[in-house]
Amino acid sequence: MTIQRESTVFDGITAYHRHVFPSIRPKMEQLTLGQQPSTLLIACIDSRISPQEFMQSEPGELCVFRSIGNVIPHYQEQTPSNFEMALDSAINMFKVKHIVVCGHSYCGFVNKMMESQSSNEKTRSRNHAYIDSLRSEYETMLADDSTTLETLTENNVSLQIEKLKQYPSVIDALEKQTIKLHGWIYHFDKGDISFYNRKLDTFINRAEAAVQEQQP
Ligand SMILES: [Zn+2]
Repeated sequence: MTIQRESTVFDGITAYHRHVFPSIRPKMEQLTLGQQPSTLLIACIDSRISPQEFMQSEPGELCVFRSIGNVIPHYQEQTPSNFEMALDSAINMFKVKHIVVCGHSYCGFVNKMMESQSSNEKTRSRNHAYIDSLRSEYETMLADDSTTLETLTENNVSLQIEKLKQYPSVIDALEKQTIKLHGWIYHFDKGDISFYNRKLDTFINRAEAAVQEQQP
């Protein structure tokens, strides 16, 4: 099984090198001179989520930071995190104009958060311990009986956007109006995205978002 999975990966790389790369070689060689990505996208590690594919983006256009449940750590003044380094690089070095927190349908992290807290301290796994360590951030949402997997997925994105605003580089860039923050839900089972609309304070589908975009 392991050998078969490995050979699949290597077959993919070989096919890419032989059949795809020759057509994009000039572009990739040009990219050795530098990059100007427009967007930093923060997504879940889920294997069903392929940002470059669903955004149809070219190499050099998109920075992607991935974590379990597209969770962002709280800003810590004393100890810079790997996330903060990635964020600062995207904003200050690459000069991205957009930062997107992208949740997704059927997210395992959000689903785990919906489950009741593990009562047996001895048998719970380190994964559960991590989920439990974050649970207080979701308490209000979980206490609401109307919360569903879908609404918690949306609220999780909104929560991460609020945490983004703790970072000095984001505060500075928002003041200078050089970046915009966005909340998306990628529905991998539909091949579509819903967008957070600040004016309406809710997530809306792509067609509605296009209409809203036209309005002043
Ligand atoms: Zn997920």
